[in-house]
Amino acid sequence: LRMALQTREQHIKRERATSNICTATALMASMVGFYCVYNGAEGLRRSAKTAHTAAVTVAKALEAMDYKLAAKNFFDTLEVEAEAAVVQSLALERGINFFYPSEDRVRFSFDDVTTPEEVNEVIAIFAEAKGKKAKAVKLSEEITIPAAILRQSEFLTERVFNTYRCESDLMRYIKRLELRDISLANSMISLGSCTMKLNAAALMQPLSLAGFQNMHPFAPADQTEGYRELIDGLAADLATITGFAACSLMPNSGAAGEYTGLMVIRAYHQSRGQGYRNIVLIPSSAHGTNPASAAMAGMKIVTVGCDANGNIDVEDLKAKAQEHSSELACMMITYPSTHGVFESRIREIVDAVHDAGGQVYMDGANMNAQVGLTNPGYIGADVCHLNLHKTFAMPHGGGGPGVGPICVAEHLRKFLPSHSIVPTGGDEGITAVASAPWGSAMLFPITYGYIKMLGGEGLKAATEMAIVNANYMSSALKSEYRTYYSGETGRVGHEMILDLTHFKKDYNIDCGDIAHRLMDYGFHAPTLSFPVHETLMVEPTESEPKAEMDRFIATLIQIKRECEEAAASGEADNVVVNAPHTAAEICGEWSHPYTREKAAFPLEFIRESKFFPYVSKIDNGYGDRNLVCRCTE
Ligand SMILES: *Cc1c(COP(=O)(O)O)cnc(C)c1O
Repeated sequence: LRMALQTREQHIKRERATSNICTATALMASMVGFYCVYNGAEGLRRSAKTAHTAAVTVAKALEAMDYKLAAKNFFDTLEVEAEAAVVQSLALERGINFFYPSEDRVRFSFDDVTTPEEVNEVIAIFAEAKGKKAKAVKLSEEITIPAAILRQSEFLTERVFNTYRCESDLMRYIKRLELRDISLANSMISLGSCTMKLNAAALMQPLSLAGFQNMHPFAPADQTEGYRELIDGLAADLATITGFAACSLMPNSGAAGEYTGLMVIRAYHQSRGQGYRNIVLIPSSAHGTNPASAAMAGMKIVTVGCDANGNIDVEDLKAKAQEHSSELACMMITYPSTHGVFESRIREIVDAVHDAGGQVYMDGANMNAQVGLTNPGYIGADVCHLNLHKTFAMPHGGGGPGVGPICVAEHLRKFLPSHSIVPTGGDEGITAVASAPWGSAMLFPITYGYIKMLGGEGLKAATEMAIVNANYMSSALKSEYRTYYSGETGRVGHEMILDLTHFKKDYNIDCGDIAHRLMDYGFHAPTLSFPVHETLMVEPTESEPKAEMDRFIATLIQIKRECEEAAASGEADNVVVNAPHTAAEICGEWSHPYTREKAAFPLEFIRESKFFPYVSKIDNGYGDRNLVCRCTE
């Protein structure tokens, strides 16, 4: 469904995009899915009934004590007219937090793990508030939801929601699905721009601690001092790393950070009586989320060209900045560029935008090439977002959850996003960009641990190693794959674009075929055809040991040999275009002119741990355009 909705990065069509989703909340969606798989319709009904009957029981008890409820009909949530301060102090004594929307209102909800003891505690608190003592009550069995809106139809009738009812079964089902995926646990994932680095076990461990896991985002400040220390410390470290004055941890993804940064820039212009500034300059090489975010922020996009070396065409930029100087809001720029190159004229670019009255937004997704060596503040930008789920070691395979904080220079601090319930952000902060004041705060221990365990020197060493690794791969592949762009020094940043544009002409094979063939070797494809068509963008990161990079290099070279062989033989039925080869295919009837061994074990190292793709090649373009439903079981 997610693919069908066409919201993934690969489908983002610059300013024509209808969404700037890149990092999605697919992990949470999967968790919800498995919850339904395990519980089925009867389990969901049971949960709903537990929550509702708890609410009914409390509602009846409160009405019997002459409390007034805000609504006659409810599911799991009650709002009661009562003196908030009195109820709050009694509730705190019992270790319970309610929500207090105003001085004379108390609101709370129940869920599937509410116990009869908790129900009686709640009733006791409201009794005490009236100077009474509550009698213990039994849970009501009654459903008070009006019959007219009670669901009558069946749901979750598919087999998958009615099969896995014991933990062993569910565990094996999840494992079976997991085994169909190539993950970082199998081999390096060199997705350029996505920075798939190690998510170290020591960083992930705190996530399962109840103190981090069970905190409500609106919990009172005096109950969350530890979290606050973590949040403030992390924000301060990120500001230092980016060379900026302040940081907001609220945005839930890089793309959300872009949107937030642009809204902050807009608020800044408005505060100076220049709210009419709404043009944003974006290089043609930009990540698709940049123009998509700009369009969502209501800005007009002017595209700036790139030269033959992949650098921003500085003359074109200067001309366009001048031409639009009366309405220029900002420029969005990625550094090192999306072409993987440290642009030497970056300062000139920044100055040209400032001279025209614009702000400079730096897309920090490539921060893995900057940390400890340089930073957006030093370069002269005004705001940048970071992808904690790229540069700062949070996992993002499967699509997040992400954390896309923005860091800003002093003059933008006061516009950082605010929150209607929990005070945060600047004095003139823009409205919240997420429902929780610090976004996905539960994930912060990962990045906090990463920064504190590595320290300044370690972070810098990581950046250096990321750049060294990329240059090692680029030069090792040089004789077979040209690196599309390199800087004046002939070197790349932390990633490289491998040129496959001639493969179609020379071998009648395209880069999509290469991506599929990589699966037969046990590798996930690098970033495909972005930002240049018919290329692979490879980013090894600092996490990969030389031996793994060497396996990947040997693989790419071997695939090139296979392409040459295919072209020399003129054989359309060849091992590259037929890839990937599934186990069923390898064991089944075989009519190809090459051997099964060549298909499945083209290099020796694969014998040690063979990954069999579960499905063979599908027609991506057709799949994108035609929604085919297979949920018939
Ligand atoms: C990943 C990325 C983004 C978007 O970040 P998400 O968290 O995936 O939304 C933006 N720009 C660049 C260059 C990126 O690589």
